[in-house]
Amino acid sequence: MLDVPPLKPEAFPIDLFPVACFVTDRSRIIRYANTEASSLFDSGLNQIIGLHIELVLTPAAKIFCNSYVYPLLHADGCCEELALTVVTRTGTRVPVVANARMHGSEFVLWSVMRSEKREKLQSEVLSARNTLQGQSRALELLASRDELTGLLNRRASTQSIQTLIAAADEAGTDVTVLLLDIDRFKAINDTYGHDAGDNVLRQLGAALQSTVRLHEVVGRYGGEEFILAIAGNEEAAARSLNERVHAAAASVSAPGAPVTVSVGLRRRLRSDGATLHEVVKAADRALYEAKASGRNCSVIEHNGTLTAFC
Ligand code: GH3
Ligand code: MG
Ligand code: MG
Repeated sequence: MLDVPPLKPEAFPIDLFPVACFVTDRSRIIRYANTEASSLFDSGLNQIIGLHIELVLTPAAKIFCNSYVYPLLHADGCCEELALTVVTRTGTRVPVVANARMHGSEFVLWSVMRSEKREKLQSEVLSARNTLQGQSRALELLASRDELTGLLNRRASTQSIQTLIAAADEAGTDVTVLLLDIDRFKAINDTYGHDAGDNVLRQLGAALQSTVRLHEVVGRYGGEEFILAIAGNEEAAARSLNERVHAAAASVSAPGAPVTVSVGLRRRLRSDGATLHEVVKAADRALYEAKASGRNCSVIEHNGTLTAFC
């Protein structure tokens, strides 16, 4: 620390400081104010002295002072970092941060600083945060959706099925996973062009989406393959999903032959504990068998056995 002589306090009167200071008495009348206070309230000093403090506060700030500030001042003797809004003589509202301290039992000393910049910064930070949250939600949505069909993509649909399996394990329920592949799809591309193929994929995606129920999952697994899943112990529910899937394919309007699909299913019993990877592999084997059996049909794999599922 440098050895320098202290400055005389009289050289730095309170009016020089960039903080509004005023004193209120027991009746909450302003009895003293410095120059900065007169600038804050946009009034001459003689217009401030004698004012009731409530006349320079917004209604909300008045309620806050009566219900919180004064009781605390009487209990603890001071209050810090009070966010208030004062009203200037011309009616402008100015956000401020105030400290207040009891002086004896009669007076309250107030130091008040404008906080417009802080409030502006805070509201900018808040609005930037809201924008970012919106953008991150949009990005999340974008990252989970297949661009062509709007269905969940492979990653998001397997994640959803994983969640379905976890919930089913907890509830002691079976899960059926269904893989479907459009029959002779390449021929549509080759004969009518890639756009016609895209159109078929889009239509099938929409038909599948509208046929699934709330507790069922549907996604585009890749190329012309889609994945679906349903939880429940009734085989009839899986059978219904299978029928709805074939009906969705039949509803697609395509150039040339009607659209058909081959389907492979794997029922994951609540007791077998198979991983999603194992379940999908089994469904894929069943799908391969459905193709080999002539297409436009469904095959289910159970305990390593493949059977037609109609
Ligand atoms: P199968 O009945 O054995 O499934 O015959 P397929 O012709 O459907 O099967 P293959 O695997 O021979 O052909 C699939 C075709 O799907 C090849 C590929 O170009 C096409 N395809 C994959 N993704 C898209 C896509 O996003 N748009 C279009 N138009 N075609 C796609
Ligand atoms: Mg395929
Ligand atoms: Mg195919």
